[in-house]
Amino acid sequence: MAQPPEEQADCLFCKGFRLVETDAVVTTSPALTVLMDKFPLTDYHVLLAPRIHIPDFFQLPDDVLGHITLAARDIAQVLRAVSRRPKIALFWAGQEIEGHAHMHLMPLSNGLKRLFAGPNEKPRIEASLTTLREQAATVSAALGVVLGTSQ
Ligand SMILES: [Zn+2]
Repeated sequence: MAQPPEEQADCLFCKGFRLVETDAVVTTSPALTVLMDKFPLTDYHVLLAPRIHIPDFFQLPDDVLGHITLAARDIAQVLRAVSRRPKIALFWAGQEIEGHAHMHLMPLSNGLKRLFAGPNEKPRIEASLTTLREQAATVSAALGVVLGTSQ
């Protein structure tokens, strides 16, 4: 089996990793970028994207999958605190949506049924970059506290 490419030129996520300063990024690691969804379904809708370009979540290497899942656990704790919503929805997307495996974390004020009720009828509205950057900074600061990296 051939090694997957590290990056794909026409992929929105891979391009975004190169232009990271233009996006609302929460944090990065060598394996992962955490950023706010530009078309959020909820406040504090966060994406966790592996740096490696693999379309299918189910083909992610074990170490990448483990890293993202553990990061999601910490980030979900932060999202509960900053959003004041106890429920965090988690789902994976990839080849069927953007062609780059990624995880969504969304604080819920209502159940999943309401969030996904008639998704094709509800246009996803692009959030302002100012709002996304404010939310990214809030999550990033709180994540530093959770991870014990704050000053
Ligand atoms: Zn990609």
